[in-house]
Amino acid sequence: MPVKNRFAELHAEITEWRRDIHAHPEVLYDTHRTAALVAEKLRAFGCDEVVAGIGRTGVVGIIKGKSNASGKVIGLRADMDALPMQEQTGLDYASENDGAMHACGHDGHTAMLLGAAKYLSETRNFDGAVALIFQPAEEGGNGALAMVEDGMMERWNIQEVYGMHNQPGMPVGEFAIRKGPMLAAVDFFTIHIEGRGGHAAHPDQTVDPTLIGTQIHAALQSIVSRNVDPVERAVVSVTSFQTGSDVYNVIPHTATLKGTVRTFAPDTQDMVQARIEEIVAGVAASFGGTARLDYQRITPATINGEDQAAFAEEVATAISGGCNEAAISMGGEDFSYMLQARPGAFIMVGNGDSAALHHPEYNFDDDAIPYGSSFLSEVIERRMPAA
Ligand SMILES: [Zn+2]
Ligand SMILES: [Zn+2]
Repeated sequence: MPVKNRFAELHAEITEWRRDIHAHPEVLYDTHRTAALVAEKLRAFGCDEVVAGIGRTGVVGIIKGKSNASGKVIGLRADMDALPMQEQTGLDYASENDGAMHACGHDGHTAMLLGAAKYLSETRNFDGAVALIFQPAEEGGNGALAMVEDGMMERWNIQEVYGMHNQPGMPVGEFAIRKGPMLAAVDFFTIHIEGRGGHAAHPDQTVDPTLIGTQIHAALQSIVSRNVDPVERAVVSVTSFQTGSDVYNVIPHTATLKGTVRTFAPDTQDMVQARIEEIVAGVAASFGGTARLDYQRITPATINGEDQAAFAEEVATAISGGCNEAAISMGGEDFSYMLQARPGAFIMVGNGDSAALHHPEYNFDDDAIPYGSSFLSEVIERRMPAA
C-alpha cells in the first residue's frame, strides 16, 4: 500500500491550508488564529466533537468510527506553534508576522493532521474513536503538558498517542523511528555568581566573579568526561556568560552563566544536576565568592513504547516500502509529556533536502503531505480495524 489515493486528490487543498498557516505563524500559546482555523475545519469536516481551549489554546476533535465495539480511543497529535525568528525564505507565502516564522514545520504537521481528519471523517472505516490533538507551545512552552494537565487523556479516554515530526536531510516519502529512547530530556540552568566588585587596579580588594565564572565553566566540563558513565549519553553546554559592563577598569560584582543539560537516564539526570550544584558552590567558595544555581527540568526524554513503535514502523513500511532506524537525538520534544501519560510513538517523516529545522531559510516540503496524512490515517484504520 503506497500513499492513500484520497491524499493525492486532497494534496492541493491540504497544501493551501499549510501555506495559509505558514503565512500566519503564531508563537507559544498565542496560536489563536491557527486554533480557530483548525476548529473551523474540524467542524466543517463533520467531527463529532470539537473543543477549543484545552491547555489554553489547544484544540481537540473527535471522530467516531463506524462501530465502537472496542471502546478504543487513539490520539494523533500535531503542534501548531511557530518560532520567534525572522523568516528569510523569500517565499510568496512567507510569514506576514514580523519576528515569527514556521521554521520547525509545525505548519506542515498541523496541515497533515487536518488532512487525516478530513479523510477519517469521510470514511470512518475503523472501530473506536480518534482524538485529533492540536497543541500550542511546543517550542519552549510545554503545550503538550498543558493539555495533559487539562485532563485531555481522561476526558476522552485516550489510550494511545502518536506524533510525527518532519526531518530535513531524509528523503521525502521516507520515515524513521526507533523503539525506546529517541529524544533527550532537556534541562536549563542559570548560575548566579556574587563576588565583590571594585577598582580593577586593586584586584586584591575584590572578589572577581568573572574569574569564578571561568573556573566554574571549566569545571562543568568534567561532569560528562569524568562523572557520567561512558556508555550513557549526556551533554552539558554553557550557552551564555554575562559579566561586567562595557568598561576597562571596573571589576564587576556579579556574573551569570546559563546553559542546558541533555540526558536520557533519570539517574544520570539527577547525578548531573547534583554535580553542577556541588561545582557551583564549591568553586565559588574556594575563590571567596558565592554562587546560586537555578535548575529547571523543561521536558523529559521522548521514549517510544516498544509495541507502539513496532506498530508505527509496520504502518510506515506499508506506506513507503521501508522504515529507517532513527538516530538518537540530544534534541528535545514536549510530546514526551503525552508519552509519559499514555503509551505511544513518535516518528520522523522525511523533509528532503531543505534547510535545517530552526534555520531562517527552512521550509516544510508539501510533497511530504500525502505520506504524513496517510501514515496518521493508517494508524487509526490498522490499530482499530473496522468489524
Ligand atoms: Zn523546533
Ligand atoms: Zn518542532
